[in-house]
Amino acid sequence: MKVKVQSDRCIGCGNCVALTESQVFDFNDEGLAHSLVDTVPEDLEDVVKEAKEQCPTEAITVEE
Ligand code: SF4
Repeated sequence: MKVKVQSDRCIGCGNCVALTESQVFDFNDEGLAHSLVDTVPEDLEDVVKEAKEQCPTEAITVEE
């Protein structure tokens, strides 16, 4: 599964960073989220899907 963050949509709420314990998402210098990985490790796929569902601005996209 691939994941991307559209930083121009991110408002820096931090939910995705917290949910994945900074293993998949982290903040850039502007305080906006970006993805640390292109391909999500299998054991983190469920939490990444949850982060996508919970993102208030739909900034996270995943591709199976
Ligand atoms: S949950 Fe969405 S808005 Fe919040 S930091 Fe992550 S990408 Fe940005």
